[in-house]
Amino acid sequence: GEYGPEKPGRVIAHFGRTLDVQAPDDTMTHRCHLRANLEGLVTGDRVIWRQAQDGSGVVVARDSRDNVLERPDPRGQLKPVAANIDQILIVFAAEPAPFANLIDRYLVAAEATGITPVLVLNKVDLLPEDGGELGALLERYAALGYAVVRATTRTTHGLDALHGRLQARTSVFVGQSGVGKSSLIDRLLPDEALRIGALSEDSRKGTHTTTTARLYRLPAGGELIDSPGIREFGLTHLDEQQVTEGFVEFRDVLGHCRFRDCRHRDEPGCALLDAVGRGDIAEARFASYRRILDSLKSS
Ligand code: GDP
Ligand code: ZN
Repeated sequence: GEYGPEKPGRVIAHFGRTLDVQAPDDTMTHRCHLRANLEGLVTGDRVIWRQAQDGSGVVVARDSRDNVLERPDPRGQLKPVAANIDQILIVFAAEPAPFANLIDRYLVAAEATGITPVLVLNKVDLLPEDGGELGALLERYAALGYAVVRATTRTTHGLDALHGRLQARTSVFVGQSGVGKSSLIDRLLPDEALRIGALSEDSRKGTHTTTTARLYRLPAGGELIDSPGIREFGLTHLDEQQVTEGFVEFRDVLGHCRFRDCRHRDEPGCALLDAVGRGDIAEARFASYRRILDSLKSS
């Protein structure tokens, strides 16, 4: 018929049943509609599509997802917002300083998605030469195996390490308001900055719907999926098992408690409590674990 052969593509934005799709080796965006039997596609999905003569197209199938980022909808139900993400960049700064277990909360939420978290300490221009308390804190996360990147939007080379970390991967930025996510993205995507603004403007005029995510190819390499909803990711509800498994250094000892249903409170033979006692697991992380569990019960 009027459509060309099936080929691979990636969803870079979606508006209801209309999608913008790019082929892997192509910077052109193709406005596509969906085959009737397809739904629930999100930004980042890999799809099979067919191009029409006028450049538009039709999406005929979705490939399986490596992972998916979900957010609660207004009724509290989890809905996918983006797919096939390689890393969640958790942004922090000295100002506003992260509250006690904020970093652990983000890490636990990221671990629950199966997407690699990366800690980005922004505004290093505000820190003393040796990195201060926040620098030392991040060293402890690096020792747990987490990638840690220092950044500042205030100097010429302030984003060099971040550029390296973004190469050849699909990333999302998350973090507390005021830590510098917009500033970082404006620097990474100078020509697209206005479009990000335009997109959220549109959504404000719209009904109750949140802005859908958009995938950007970064001029310096790598891909970024961004939306206001994604930036707010992480402080949502998790269950007890997700919290427990979200502390990476617990994983090796968890199977060794005397009781299979050990809650790691005061049970005899608790391998987790023993590891804290020996100093193999940091008391601060264990305290943070307890606080997060307690907050589950009260919410
Ligand atoms: P967002 O809420 O996470 O998007 O944060 P913004 O990008 O809006 O930044 C919040 C404030 O921090 C703004 O006043 C920025 O100018 C400032 N800011 C962003 N990056 C840096 C930085 O690297 N150093 C300093 N000192 N301030 C920064
Ligand atoms: Zn135990």
